[in-house]
Amino acid sequence: MPTPDPSLDGRVQISDLRRTFRRRGAGARLALDGASLDIAPGSLAALLGPSGCGKTTLLRCVAGFDVPDSGEIVVSGRQLVGDGCFVRPERRRVGIVAQDGALFPHLSVADNVGFGVARADRARRVAECLDLVELTDYATARPTELSGGQQQRAAVARALAPRPDVLLLDEPFSALDAGLRSRVRADIADVLRAAGITSLLVTHDQGEALSMADSVAVMFDGRVHQTDSPVALYQRPATLRIAQFFGDVDVVAASADGPTATSRVGRVVLVTAHVGAVVLALRPEQIHIGESTDGPRATVERVDYFGHDTTVSLRLDDGTVVRSRATRAVLPHVGDAVTVSISESVLAFPPPPHDPPTGREEPAT
Ligand code: ATP
Repeated sequence: MPTPDPSLDGRVQISDLRRTFRRRGAGARLALDGASLDIAPGSLAALLGPSGCGKTTLLRCVAGFDVPDSGEIVVSGRQLVGDGCFVRPERRRVGIVAQDGALFPHLSVADNVGFGVARADRARRVAECLDLVELTDYATARPTELSGGQQQRAAVARALAPRPDVLLLDEPFSALDAGLRSRVRADIADVLRAAGITSLLVTHDQGEALSMADSVAVMFDGRVHQTDSPVALYQRPATLRIAQFFGDVDVVAASADGPTATSRVGRVVLVTAHVGAVVLALRPEQIHIGESTDGPRATVERVDYFGHDTTVSLRLDDGTVVRSRATRAVLPHVGDAVTVSISESVLAFPPPPHDPPTGREEPAT
């Protein structure tokens, strides 16, 4: 038997997974179309993509609940799927946290956590894991006596207790209300980092992916299109489609001459040089509203106040609408005449084959 390479401990390597579903009366549906993903040991990766893009199917293939038609899955240097190999789910050392936690209601919190742990190690491991998620005082409680956030922490403790190589989290915060969600996800991110476990989080929520993950993989149509740090993904998306999915973007046609471009929002500096026709992907926080007479003119069309900031929709002279995110105390009013300026360098992409899209693919929440 080959000696395991310790540098691969916890590394997840998913290569070229394909999975087709065939339903009677309906055509074949390609849920995974060559999905590949490499997760560094001990890191938290988020898998983000629109509904139906294949996130759950990929997660189920890693867990062993689904069998891909082809491709390879290797965890900690050990092949789980590929070349005729298929390791059964219970032998994979892969933990899962489901959307609703799925704790056993008839067992105490401690018994839930100790469920998959060998008897000899159980008491010590349960104590360690309850301590990690700060639920020691709830060891004898039943799951129904816990709040939603505590239940998710108990579910994480249960998944961590058998010391898996990797933890899969399938939209684990979707059942929590908005106020609780941000606190629980910060708590769980801290727990996963303290445990040093490699984790893969499936989410629809870009805020969750940005705030929690070390790396974010964006998936469309059964394939991972880009994997990067949250900052790199937001600031340097590889395509217009990713830029539009990941954050708010307004698209404006422009003519580039290398480092700069001319457009209806004026002359702008580009993040990367282009020549010829391009589309600018403008983030609302890059667009500033002024009252001077210089610069492209616009009329305030809509003001959406969110407390911490405000989104102001601006109609340019030629009818194009762009959004500006304002944090000022004094806000413009609908109908005000303003000027628009852009202070930072902006993203530019080759124009799409058809008319530039004006909306986003699907609002990631
Ligand atoms: P969501 O975010 O809505 O949960 P997802 O990205 O997790 O979506 P999947 O659940 O992986 O997407 O589904 C990918 C595609 O495969 C979808 O078109 C779905 O209809 C199809 N699919 C998934 N499971 C099955 C199945 N058991 N039988 C038939 N089709 C399936």
